[in-house]
Amino acid sequence: MSSTNKTTIFITGANGYIAKHIIKQALEAGYGVVGTVRSTEKGDALAKLVKNSKFSYEVVKSLDHKGVYDQPLKNHPEVTVLLHTASPVDFSAKDPLNETIIPAIEGVKELFDSVKANAPQIKRVVLTTSIAAIAIAVLKGINAVGGPYTESDWSPITIEEGSEDGYKAYCASKKFEELAAWKYVEEEKPNFTLATVAPAYAIGPQAFEEDAAAGIQASTSSSIAGLLKLGKSDEIPVFVGDMVDVRDVAKCHILAFELDSAQGERFIAASECFSNHQAIEVITKVFPQYKDLLPTPDLDEREKPTAPIFQNERTRKILGFEFIKPEVSIVDQLNQLFKYK
Ligand code: NAP
Repeated sequence: MSSTNKTTIFITGANGYIAKHIIKQALEAGYGVVGTVRSTEKGDALAKLVKNSKFSYEVVKSLDHKGVYDQPLKNHPEVTVLLHTASPVDFSAKDPLNETIIPAIEGVKELFDSVKANAPQIKRVVLTTSIAAIAIAVLKGINAVGGPYTESDWSPITIEEGSEDGYKAYCASKKFEELAAWKYVEEEKPNFTLATVAPAYAIGPQAFEEDAAAGIQASTSSSIAGLLKLGKSDEIPVFVGDMVDVRDVAKCHILAFELDSAQGERFIAASECFSNHQAIEVITKVFPQYKDLLPTPDLDEREKPTAPIFQNERTRKILGFEFIKPEVSIVDQLNQLFKYK
């Protein structure tokens, strides 16, 4: 374990699906955690879930307003690691450029400026990006389905294309936010090193049981649970692409700041290509009560990716662990959900 062990981590977007797993794993490993949330209500609710005296929160109302991170960072001179997970994730944004792309790009610059000015003791930063920064499927005139794409690739999307709708805006925001982060490090030469984690489609259980009781929150994980609502004669929504267990996404973030060899690297957090048809196959096998309720899967769907396919050998080599298989993530997620159904 590196010398950063037992330090305190500052994590933005602390009440997110992925961030809660990072917080849980970091506390279990003995780190202190300071999380940012957008309101006291959200902070209090999170502290109630986390139930750990080594966790505290700061309210940061916006991602990108001038000086928003200054006082929260000054309040915590014990912090030496920063994880930036907060990002506008709203595929239905009405003004995609101003609601999604600009806040993501300006947000990372504002955060890094604030670290440079107020928290020079921060030595390691991990940014949560996305496989959407690496390749994108839905783009007028560009068919990026295929691959495999690796840690060296960048999606061809432009800011103009990204401004066309909410989903493209999200894809553009992740690419240009990540580019802004690497540029900042290169040009401003702050005291910290950077690593980025690009998750595939994250699935798996909630970090805290209470969240499962409240229903699967509005993140991409919801569509696995959403498959349960299908009727016998419904069409299975088409999706064939890389998936990753949310617990492994969290693990990647922790290793990305712990390992010296991870500094300056981009990581793809992805297990393997899986389809909604395969997911239904798993569900009906493990939970036979769904066999007569759900549509019959067509496993040939496995052969036709509808999303880009990724290859993350470099990530696996540096981080050194085996990703959880989608079958396991799906079963764990549903077992957690069924406790509260
Ligand atoms: P999530 O549950 O929706 O969490 C997003 C977090 O960002 C929340 O804390 C949210 O705060 C905060 N946030 C959103 N817009 C913000 C804004 N304008 N200002 C300040 N905070 C804002 O999403 P998630 O799935 O955990 O995603 C976390 C990160 O992983 C994001 O960077 C996302 O792009 C990336 N990612 C996720 C997936 C996936 O499959 N889940 C895949 C690839 C990449 P509120 O709760 O207050 O809204």
